[in-house]
Amino acid sequence: MRPWLRLWRFRGAPGRIVAALRRAGLLLAVPLLAVCLPTAGMAAAAVPLRIVAAERVYADVARQIAGPAATVISVLNNPAADPHLFEAAPSVARALANARIVVANGAGYDPWMDALLRANPVPGRQVLVIARLLGVPAGSNPHLWYDPAAMPAYADALARALTAADPAEASTFATRLARFRASLRPLDARIAALRARFAGTAVTATEPVFGRMAAALGLKMRNRRFQLAVMNGSEPGPAEVAAFDRDLRTRAVRVLIYNRQATTPATRRLLEIARRAGVPVLGVTETEPAGLSYQAWIGGTLDALEAALAAPPHP
Ligand SMILES: [Zn+2]
Repeated sequence: MRPWLRLWRFRGAPGRIVAALRRAGLLLAVPLLAVCLPTAGMAAAAVPLRIVAAERVYADVARQIAGPAATVISVLNNPAADPHLFEAAPSVARALANARIVVANGAGYDPWMDALLRANPVPGRQVLVIARLLGVPAGSNPHLWYDPAAMPAYADALARALTAADPAEASTFATRLARFRASLRPLDARIAALRARFAGTAVTATEPVFGRMAAALGLKMRNRRFQLAVMNGSEPGPAEVAAFDRDLRTRAVRVLIYNRQATTPATRRLLEIARRAGVPVLGVTETEPAGLSYQAWIGGTLDALEAALAAPPHP
């Protein structure tokens, strides 16, 4: 079953992109140096160290680890828009043509990056794909930043890439990496504490966006088929809708999680049923909100989740 691949078909991505997506991990891993001709006069050291990340969260972590040694831009920035409907503007291609390090989520989340990278080859450009770092197969839940293992793996790989691009700054990158890894410890402790307290608790969601963190917390996720249908842009079946409604009305779940970036009439209806039944609701986003670090974003979401899970039962 490849629900995430179906998503792209449903949303009208060309078959060419879907085919590329199947091979995305491999394609993005091809050392671009080996497949393109050197550009005349482009001495690597003369080019400022530019990083382009497909998603804002990866750009944020890149800034934390690179510090002033790099300029970092991100492509997906709008927490009010649905990233699955994104179409890259020409400015993205121009940014990639100047980037020494490129970061993509992979797993079918940002297939436009793969096409743009191939169309804009740069000698020596390093491409980090989070799905590959984590060994996530195509067709898996692509919301990888909600996996607590994602950022440590990414940070390590990025520090290696930065050091390769700018060896003179190696010790600076090592120091910044250590600081970043240390900053994750409170989050890890938080996750462990929530897991100890709430593992096995039944929750549900309109979409699988928070699924990897819910799994890390040991939460029992209900109505998965419904979530995949919504995610794939198709209508959940009547039996799935009825089961979801029943879970809310009978308060068989302690929390309803929804994606703030992709509300539809169907999800708004569920939010209303939850409100009337007294089931706490947690809104999450796919895109890191402006002004928040990864640590603050995830920490704040865990705070809100804890408050929802600990809410006293509705009278
Ligand atoms: Zn999503």
